[in-house]
Amino acid sequence: MQFKKALFIKHAITKGISVKIAVFADIHSDLKMLEKTLKLAKNIDLIVLLGDNTHYGGISDINKIIETIGFPKIFALPGNVDTKEVLETFEQKGISLHAKKKLVSGFAFIGFGGGKTGNAGETNFSEKKIYAELKKLCKGEKNIVLCTHLPPINTKIDLLQNGSHIGSEAVRKIIEEFSPIVNLCGHCHEGIGEEKIGKTICINAGAVKDGNALLLGINEKNNEIKFDRIKVPQ
Ligand SMILES: [Zn+2]
Repeated sequence: MQFKKALFIKHAITKGISVKIAVFADIHSDLKMLEKTLKLAKNIDLIVLLGDNTHYGGISDINKIIETIGFPKIFALPGNVDTKEVLETFEQKGISLHAKKKLVSGFAFIGFGGGKTGNAGETNFSEKKIYAELKKLCKGEKNIVLCTHLPPINTKIDLLQNGSHIGSEAVRKIIEEFSPIVNLCGHCHEGIGEEKIGKTICINAGAVKDGNALLLGINEKNNEIKFDRIKVPQ
């Protein structure tokens, strides 16, 4: 795939932006929608996958997704409905951001994937574990880009139509304690949107399977965030 210097984001947000990221959450193995979404992501430096890439899929499913993306720089998280094989594949390919920190242009990308205990699927962790791992990674870091599958709890971005909040207490606590520049999350498809917690803008990218994704730019001089949503026409 060709990533041309043309459109990064339709509202011309490239000025002063040093890191340009395309964010894809909840693909759920919908390759057709992934292809359509990718066509709308141009001139990017990095692709972040926020989990539920497959739908209970294994190695061949995740390899198909990585091939379809066909981009050299990926940071990837598993979601609750990704199997353990999906995380192992990310680790083998050196693209996993799960329980890891990667530095890009002075920003610390810190990630933790999977769901919380009790979610569907096999890649789930206790709130205690999520908090402990993220705390270890965030300590001493200033310019944090927090990437999680789960949104922070008790926000509009973790809210189901039935009124229940399905986000993570641990993710919320980490945001409150460490004030990341931004929290990128998914999992709650209908919670697509943004919410501020303290100084942190928390963005639920929406589900690729529903034609949603996110383009995000960060200015390394002042940490200003600009973003635009990708919406595949129905
Ligand atoms: Zn999920």
